[in-house]
Amino acid sequence: MDQLTICKTCSKEVAKSASTCPHCGAKLKMSVFQKVLIVIGVFFAINLILILLNLVVSTRYFSNKSTSTTTSEPANEIPRVPAQPSK
Ligand SMILES: [Zn+2]
Repeated sequence: MDQLTICKTCSKEVAKSASTCPHCGAKLKMSVFQKVLIVIGVFFAINLILILLNLVVSTRYFSNKSTSTTTSEPANEIPRVPAQPSK
């Protein structure tokens, strides 16, 4: 027993298992290829957003750095003391 759905194109009842409408021939289901394409597209979109965010953050960071370090770089501003052995 196939469940029925309504075709969006011709608004007739079509079996849900059908990939295309038998009345008007419109595609009812997305093919696996289309689904994969959408997944890849979303993946690339998220990556693009992350890359853009990284660019914005890094440019801000570097601009702040350049303004703060106008003079020569303080090489030994904070003397790194090695971990002292516990007595
Ligand atoms: Zn149809």
